[in-house]
Amino acid sequence: MTALENPGADPTDALSPVPTWGSRRDLPSVGQIKFWYGPMDCGKSTLALQIDHNLARQGRQGLLLVRHDRSGAPRITSRIGITRQALELEGDTDLRTVVRQAWAQGTHVDYLIVDEAQFLSPCQVEQLGELADEARIDVYCFGIATDFRSRLFPGAQRLFELADVFQPVQVEVLCWCGLPGRFNARVRDDEVLRSGDTVVVADTAAGDAPVEVNPGATRSRTETATIRYQVLCRRHYRLGDLGPTGSGRGQLRLT
Ligand SMILES: [Zn+2]
Repeated sequence: MTALENPGADPTDALSPVPTWGSRRDLPSVGQIKFWYGPMDCGKSTLALQIDHNLARQGRQGLLLVRHDRSGAPRITSRIGITRQALELEGDTDLRTVVRQAWAQGTHVDYLIVDEAQFLSPCQVEQLGELADEARIDVYCFGIATDFRSRLFPGAQRLFELADVFQPVQVEVLCWCGLPGRFNARVRDDEVLRSGDTVVVADTAAGDAPVEVNPGATRSRTETATIRYQVLCRRHYRLGDLGPTGSGRGQLRLT
């Protein structure tokens, strides 16, 4: 019998997918971990908030988490002016407990968004893996891959090892020479520093905001700050060459 002979038949039946052995619907469902990475100022937090917005519009519920937000407060702050409240993670926060507490408050958790994810401990990244696999939570992480020594942050390293997907943030930050900036150089007195603590906290007048990810604040909040960050290409990072202006901008001006 055709659809014409049976007006009550659903004409879309012919297009319905036929379940087959081995089709994806038969596979166990798990969440995915995605890691977006890039140097300072490449728009990671903006992307994090955009993804949160898109997911929320689809009716999904998520938690925003952050380690060492540049504002010094538990929120995700984008340099283009968008801000959302977030839960501040400590070094020993168990992310599974965070999710269980949300459940206990009646909040369904479809996804997690983690900003400044390079500051997660490897153990916390493993907890994200457990949440993805066992609780089917999608995890979206945003962070910097390498520290001022050009070495992977431990959290970023574990994300590269465990994430399902990782990709550079596509907003390119340029070295003063015009090449893509890939390294966050720590600079004092126009000299690129090669050693020291991975995270420098409280070296701005504003208090405890870590300047590892906040060169802008270091420059603007205080005249007395002696450490700042500048994004450089590999060659100029390697040479310690900060460009013709020395203490000038981290980006090439286009005007
Ligand atoms: Zn360069």
